[in-house]
Amino acid sequence: MRVVVAKSAGFCQGVRRAIGAAEQLALDGAFTAVCTDGPLIHNSHETARLAALGVRTLSPGEVPSPGSVLMVRAHGVSPRRMATLTALPGVKVHDATCPFVRNIQNVCREESESGRFVLILGDAGHAEVQGLSGCAEGRCAVVSGPEELKALPDPGLPVSLVSQSTRDEASFAAARAAALERWPDARVINTICGATRTRQSELTKLAEECDAIVVVGSPHSANTRRLAEIAGRSRPVFLAEDATSLDPAAFAHFRTVGLAAGASTPDSDISAVRGFLEKLNCQDCRQGQESP
Ligand code: SF4
Repeated sequence: MRVVVAKSAGFCQGVRRAIGAAEQLALDGAFTAVCTDGPLIHNSHETARLAALGVRTLSPGEVPSPGSVLMVRAHGVSPRRMATLTALPGVKVHDATCPFVRNIQNVCREESESGRFVLILGDAGHAEVQGLSGCAEGRCAVVSGPEELKALPDPGLPVSLVSQSTRDEASFAAARAAALERWPDARVINTICGATRTRQSELTKLAEECDAIVVVGSPHSANTRRLAEIAGRSRPVFLAEDATSLDPAAFAHFRTVGLAAGASTPDSDISAVRGFLEKLNCQDCRQGQESP
């Protein structure tokens, strides 16, 4: 089977930067332990690899021991959470917040400080969104789409609309239209990060030239799920963390499969799934060759 791999598949720069920092801290050996405030990455293989290097995810409520270094993930945290972490006795905090997320945090802070109400288009339970809400200091609401936006009680303040870094352009455009219809003077700031835009627009093109799309990554990763959602609008889509969850029979009638991956998917997982797909035979192609 022919497999076309998206050029942007694999770690985004924010994830690469956080993983590089974790590896370096583990290698340096300057701290008694290297801990992360939640999973550094939504990928079980990569988490296991980091654990083998000595990078450990703190359990909820666990306090790192003095002498440890505690990493803040690329998702970032709220100012209140950061204050709690930096006050831990004997613990050094390493802030690996992605610069793009930092920029959205600054936008939320500035818009809120200038007396505006911040609408955050995103997943309310996601760590990045919780950090963004904290930066807007309560003068904000998280909405998952236009319907929730329309149903909000009027905040009685001028409104600004921003987005979680990994939302898709179509959902942001729909939220933008709903915000402007309700508050014509709303300030709209598209904060979808460059890596997400590239990945999503490349995937849309890939879907046009392939019979099906496989998205490699964890179902717990918001940006991976979003890619599957986008591809699923026009093609059959399979979301798989690795090849073991893919059924060869499901690919029997595809000639060309596109391979995309979330921002937290290591190259090794992408290569393994690619190898698996390339070994499959397309039944229709074989029949075509056998026809007189
Ligand atoms: S998806 Fe974008 S904002 Fe999120 S970590 Fe990657 S580069 Fe940063």
